[in-house]
Amino acid sequence: MIGSHTDVNERKNVERQLLHVSRHDTLTGLANRRSFDMAIAREIDRVARSGEPALLLALDIDHFKLYNDHYGHQQGDECLVKVAQKLQEVAQTFGDGMMARYGGEEFVGLFKVSDQASAMQLAQDLVKQVNAIGLPHAKSSTNPCVSISLGMCLSPSGVDRTLHTLIKQADDQLYQSKTTGRNRATLASFATTQTT
Ligand code: GH3
Ligand code: MG
Ligand code: MG
Repeated sequence: MIGSHTDVNERKNVERQLLHVSRHDTLTGLANRRSFDMAIAREIDRVARSGEPALLLALDIDHFKLYNDHYGHQQGDECLVKVAQKLQEVAQTFGDGMMARYGGEEFVGLFKVSDQASAMQLAQDLVKQVNAIGLPHAKSSTNPCVSISLGMCLSPSGVDRTLHTLIKQADDQLYQSKTTGRNRATLASFATTQTT
């Protein structure tokens, strides 16, 4: 009887661990792309039902190829871990939301932020706090320390959007941040675009 209880508990533990591994990125510990895609599918349902807005953000480390080339892949990995930890820390101060590693040196976030001012506040915090880690980036023409560029899309209330269009819009804004100087955030919302 006791033995079978232990077996059941062990099996449950293994199942929990497997579930955790399937939902998290092994390097940074952040949510992985798969769990982000599941979360955003749920969020789009919620937005469609409730009419509440949602904020999607896409961000990318600046000149990361040069960072790897100069400091080596191992230190590149350590940089990814530190940036991911900082993103998570800042995200948690904003309450309801999640950050995920979408692939390589690209991260995405999903937040229940409803207005442009809060969205810009979150974005500015993320950009500033990554700078404040103070990781030297000798080969960056943008900034002496590791920096990120960020694009955001605030989904207008009551408008049904697909996962694909939201990510595409945030990505387009990320591209704007890259081409207008990096180390900044750009927000797409209806017709307006703001850059920090
Ligand atoms: P940009 O400022 O335009 O974003 O330039 P970039 O150099 O950051 O962009 P690019 O896409 O040219 O390079 C991305 C680099 O990220 C290349 C790749 O080797 C590195 N990278 C992707 N995944 C990992 C990883 O898991 N670990 C390490 N160390 N490097 C990675
Ligand atoms: Mg990239
Ligand atoms: Mg990059």
